[in-house]
Amino acid sequence: SNAAPLLKVSSLGAGYGGMPVLREVSLEVDKAEIVALVGSNGAGKTTLLRALSRVIGSTGTIEFAGRDLSPMTPDEAFGAGLVQVPEGRQLFDRMTVEDNLLMGAYRRGAGRAIGRDLERIYGLFPRLGERRRQLAGSLSGGEQQMCAMARGLMAAPVLLMIDEMSLGLAPVVVEQLMEVLAAIRKDGVTILLVEQDVHLALSGADRGYVMETGRIVHHGAAKDLIDDPEVRRAYLGL
Ligand code: ATP
Repeated sequence: SNAAPLLKVSSLGAGYGGMPVLREVSLEVDKAEIVALVGSNGAGKTTLLRALSRVIGSTGTIEFAGRDLSPMTPDEAFGAGLVQVPEGRQLFDRMTVEDNLLMGAYRRGAGRAIGRDLERIYGLFPRLGERRRQLAGSLSGGEQQMCAMARGLMAAPVLLMIDEMSLGLAPVVVEQLMEVLAAIRKDGVTILLVEQDVHLALSGADRGYVMETGRIVHHGAAKDLIDDPEVRRAYLGL
């Protein structure tokens, strides 16, 4: 398409205490795309998400929905619709499922739209609807991941960034979550899927970026990356 990308990252650099982790990272995400960001443990994927969320500073430029993200605080970036589902879910274990979901909407204030969104999200995740009064800490791993994704959705994201969605979950559960992602995208939400499971992420994505030691080393249509001999050798064990 000839529309401007929703997210445009150019020559991004970031690190910790003067130690560079990301180098010259450039990537684009279009509206309503599912884009996979994949790479091994320690490649820098979470660091990139932290820079996008403005939890850490960065050099280079980040444009999001036509705005410069660089000077924003994490709360401002969140308010602009950049919402992260963190690795490890990070739920409020001693709160109910529903209260966790409402925490996702804290910035939106009270209102009728919140109740509507709760019902819509319980439609996407019927198990959460059944367990809305249950403490989040007592959910199964898969249900906790659903709850974390649902909490992210309650923030009315423009771009939902999901870090290691599949970690520790059974394949059948992961398959259900991938179906939910497809449904979410149909509703117009753009998704950045950050995964160590390269095959899984590329199977569910339109396009992908492969990261190694803080750089993007391959990118393209997800189906082309799955067929790329180098990607197959390095990441797919083929
Ligand atoms: P994983 O999926 O295991 O989190 P990743 O691709 O997300 O891997 P990062 O977590 O971004 O990788 O880590 C990239 C590099 O940055 C690693 O060398 C890591 O040790 C380093 N790093 C990450 N967080 C910090 C931190 N808070 N302080 C210092 N170094 C860090």
